[in-house]
Amino acid sequence: MGGLVPPAMQRTVATFRRGDLFRIEGEELKHIFARRWKVGQKVEVFWEGRLFLCVLESISKKGAVCRILEEISTRPAEPYVYLYQCVPVEIGKMDFIVEKVSEVGAYQLTPLLSSRSFQNLQALEKRYERWRRIAFSSFKQCGRPIPLEIAPVTHLEDLKCRGGVCMVLDSFGGEIWLSEVNLKDVKEVHLVVGPEGGFSEKEVQLLREKGFLPVRLRPYTLRSETAAVLAVGLVMNFSSPPSPTSS
Ligand code: SAM
Repeated sequence: MGGLVPPAMQRTVATFRRGDLFRIEGEELKHIFARRWKVGQKVEVFWEGRLFLCVLESISKKGAVCRILEEISTRPAEPYVYLYQCVPVEIGKMDFIVEKVSEVGAYQLTPLLSSRSFQNLQALEKRYERWRRIAFSSFKQCGRPIPLEIAPVTHLEDLKCRGGVCMVLDSFGGEIWLSEVNLKDVKEVHLVVGPEGGFSEKEVQLLREKGFLPVRLRPYTLRSETAAVLAVGLVMNFSSPPSPTSS
């Protein structure tokens, strides 16, 4: 039956490579022991932005060795969803957003500054390493082909509708339900989500002028992080991707 997603294969990150062999040490090795990998098992190994199907050849307390069988395509699932998330005043909520939008399939996340968002740029920049770690751990867990990209902080006024379908999630003035937006054969979706206090009227107007369609989610008002995860998940599941059998 089309549409069934195979379970994600177990993943690790190589410490170094020699020819067609990868060696895994340190924290990753501890994870391998914790997950009870067995010699002969097929696994995925991430190395310098590339992913390889490998077989585990040996394992000891000093390290594990995996032999490359083939390189795996790292083409992300379409459509590419670019999420522009106004940073919640409760900044810790961004951890949840990073992890969950990675799982549901967003391609890129841009932390956005708006009139009611978290404002401290320096504090935000210090969070990047943490967010990249969360995104990476989610990548290992969920089977996506590359980690969620986390783009530099951007001001709402500087956003541009760069083609594809551009939408702003607007719980008040949204003119159309998300379910009514035509996502057929769409390759890119740009999605703006407000902070806890929502957007100002001026901001929604500005985004509208830039080409972002104000859309609503049924049936209630959601927390910012719920809206982000739900919207990305709906777009990924209700757009029309290539048939699973053709990939
Ligand atoms: N009282 C706030 C307001 O002025 O809109 C509610 C903000 S809501 C907690 C945070 C953000 O989540 C909103 O700015 C919007 O982007 C998104 N959101 C929440 N529920 C939504 C819905 N039902 N439809 C569209 N967007 C929604």
